[in-house]
Amino acid sequence: MQFAFPPNPPATVPVAGRNELFPVHRIYCVGRNYVEHAKEMGHTGREAPFFFMKPADAVLPIPYGTVGEMRYPTMTNDLHHEIELVVAIGKEGRNIAAADAMQYVWGYAVGLDMTRRDLQGEAKKLGRPWCTGKGFDQSAPIAPIHPITQTGPIDQAAIHLNVNGAPRQNSDIQKLIWNVAETIEHLSKYFALLPGDLIFTGTPEGVAAVKAGDLLEGGIAGLGELRVKIV
Ligand code: MN
Repeated sequence: MQFAFPPNPPATVPVAGRNELFPVHRIYCVGRNYVEHAKEMGHTGREAPFFFMKPADAVLPIPYGTVGEMRYPTMTNDLHHEIELVVAIGKEGRNIAAADAMQYVWGYAVGLDMTRRDLQGEAKKLGRPWCTGKGFDQSAPIAPIHPITQTGPIDQAAIHLNVNGAPRQNSDIQKLIWNVAETIEHLSKYFALLPGDLIFTGTPEGVAAVKAGDLLEGGIAGLGELRVKIV
């Protein structure tokens, strides 16, 4: 059998320091995974991790040393930045115990979970899905993926985001409520993880709006920088 029309090429993210592309399968995201961000979203107390998704082709890969361009999305007047540690999965698994979870990690990257906060807020209020608030085109700018064989497991590292040179978000990934291994344990109860999956692990406090013309510069110690301009 033939395809009815040529299939779209796979979504990919460059691999840092190698002439390789990481093919993206699914994008999972963790909600409210830092205490201070949960508070600024109006929540307190430890809750089980919860997940939402973006389509694989929501990635906006930004090669090392370049400034990406993200179009200001339609249908919003409140586009927010969320700087996040992204975990890349390299091995199939389900019902993975936290103690075994790091074997499934292929690498790490710096990513942005860009959010139409007005649409997400409306969806929350009305009990509707978050797709239009979270899963829109180019909603996942991402820097090159660093293989864990080079970085080793990362349990603590400063994470930051500046907008037009001014600090907006500053934290450390050791403040994740559910760390990477625990997140994989929970997520893999709901979904079979496959090579190519990306997990956006949640954002620290300081999320705020951006506008066309703004330059977002984020980074995680050891994983380099992510620079994107809103156009
Ligand atoms: Mn997020």
